[in-house]
Amino acid sequence: MRMPILKFSTFAVVAGMSALLLAQESGKPNPKDTEVWEPVPPVVTPGAMPGEPPSDAIRLFDGKNLDEWVSAQDHAPAKWIVHDGIVTVNKAGGVGNIETKRKFKNYQLHVEWRIPPDVTGSDQARGNSGVFLASTGPGDDGYELQVLDSYINKTYVNGMAGSLYKQSIPLANAARKPGEWQTYDVAWTAPTFNADGSVKTPAYATVFWNGVLVDNHFELKGQTLYMGKPFYKAYDAAPIKLQAHGDKSEPISFRNIWMRELP
Ligand code: MG
Repeated sequence: MRMPILKFSTFAVVAGMSALLLAQESGKPNPKDTEVWEPVPPVVTPGAMPGEPPSDAIRLFDGKNLDEWVSAQDHAPAKWIVHDGIVTVNKAGGVGNIETKRKFKNYQLHVEWRIPPDVTGSDQARGNSGVFLASTGPGDDGYELQVLDSYINKTYVNGMAGSLYKQSIPLANAARKPGEWQTYDVAWTAPTFNADGSVKTPAYATVFWNGVLVDNHFELKGQTLYMGKPFYKAYDAAPIKLQAHGDKSEPISFRNIWMRELP
């Protein structure tokens, strides 16, 4: 009684192989041809709650100190005001923007910011700050993702919160009220340059503002400028910079800033 079973399984194997050969000969795809098993992605443990840093994040500000930051002007210790687990912009004369000590190329970034509840002013002079996704010099040199009170505050739309300053118009206004914490989650693809300084590949930014997609793989035309047409200036890696804007409105605050470097 065993022989017929053996014979049958032998027949099944032969038949199966023949079918496979036939399929290959006839050009019919084999599912195994499109399976990729390596490289295996690294394990990253996500934060316990949305917005919390995953296990491989670099914490740029965790509420305690500005050890990761320096003055963008002269690289002296950063003099913004750390209190109650947050950092508030210091608008005193001579303080200015702050930037990270470390330099980056491509990355994922999480930033939380809050317009003060008692904010005054209008247009660009109401809660103006900014997150420079790459700082390419002192002052406002670089690529600015605008921070502004955009909750019922009219301004030019390519300069509202969520804009890549004077280049992108955000796809939506996702502003929360002054006094409420807001989030930016950014994927930044740094520009690359040829040896002669010409652009090899442009910069791209994808931005979620309070979880709402507002810039979708937006291609930048160069650095973000207050005046004139944007242009690229070759750089290799760059700090991330936060803006102390010169307007007279009450200073805004940041908290929970982290990033993950990307290939
Ligand atoms: Mg700004």
